[in-house]
Amino acid sequence: MPATILDGNQIAAEIKSEVAGEVKALTTAGRRPGLAVVLAGNNPASEIYVRGKVKSCEELGIYSERHTPGPSVSTRELLQLVGELNRRDEIDGILVQLPLPAQVDSKAVLLAVDPAKDVDGFHPMNVGFLSTQRPGLVPCTPAGVIEILKRSGIAIAGQEAVVVGRSDIVGKPTAMLLINGNATVTVCHSKTRDLPAVCRRADILIAAIGRAGMITREYVKPGSTVIDVGMNKVTDPAEFERFFRGNAKREQAFAKNGSTLIGDVHPEVAEVAGALTPVPGGVGPLTIAMLMANTARAARLRRGPGVDAHAVA
Ligand code: NDP
Repeated sequence: MPATILDGNQIAAEIKSEVAGEVKALTTAGRRPGLAVVLAGNNPASEIYVRGKVKSCEELGIYSERHTPGPSVSTRELLQLVGELNRRDEIDGILVQLPLPAQVDSKAVLLAVDPAKDVDGFHPMNVGFLSTQRPGLVPCTPAGVIEILKRSGIAIAGQEAVVVGRSDIVGKPTAMLLINGNATVTVCHSKTRDLPAVCRRADILIAAIGRAGMITREYVKPGSTVIDVGMNKVTDPAEFERFFRGNAKREQAFAKNGSTLIGDVHPEVAEVAGALTPVPGGVGPLTIAMLMANTARAARLRRGPGVDAHAVA
């Protein structure tokens, strides 16, 4: 039986509608949530991501503003900008879009963001909160992975989960959230021995690698849940053929656009897995939905009546 396809667009829409309600309540109470996005340089992919984030804010009633320093911006200038945003009370979330221009010390800039406004959840203080199970702001894509599982009725507690990828922004925080959800978690990376065998242990397999279609059927236990975080652009016709030959819808789109998106999971996995997230339309939409949720949460934690930003869930 082919895998159940987990519809990320639908789950993201559900979350956004809940967040819109929360934003409305906060706004009525005179505390409209606000997000500041810093987009430095002129990376075309970053510009597209930021446009999507600003558009979602508008849809949900969140105040947003964009700051667009040029490609030659210095670390000092960005630190100054972040400092100003930290001091402004009406700004609840600060998102510094990565990658920053090469001359900028990205770690220093991310460290400068007030942890209470760190809606990406990248600040070491929020990383620490997550790993010690204290309330804080959780990175958006990993939080989205957990929402997909929960809202699809897929049990986490007691399950064997394998995460392929150990990046600070996806792999590690996803593993931490799964541990906190009482899964038994294995984290794999490029030095893991016999990766297919380790992956085949998984009831829940998370692919966060950045390699088109790498997870083939031999990595997957029949009936398991596979979450594909990867987003890889395919432009080479031979590579396209390898993955999508016979898929009329994809062929049409590829002929029109000259490219298509593929995850880290090979399409053949749909014949083996019990449930699978598609690419596009799986984890991707959740990332923006969780950013919106984090912004509303930051507003609530920072400005709710008598609430201490770091002390209350
Ligand atoms: P990174 O490049 O930071 O990390 C990739 C990880 O995969 C590393 O831990 C690396 O291991 C591991 N890896 C690479 N090759 C192999 C291999 N052959 N075997 C086993 N492990 C391997 O990527 P990110 O975590 O930032 O992103 C991962 C993917 O998720 C990308 O496709 C990215 O585009 C996508 N992404 C999608 C988002 C969404 O909204 N859907 C958001 C963010 C990312 P090692 O540590 O040993 O090098």
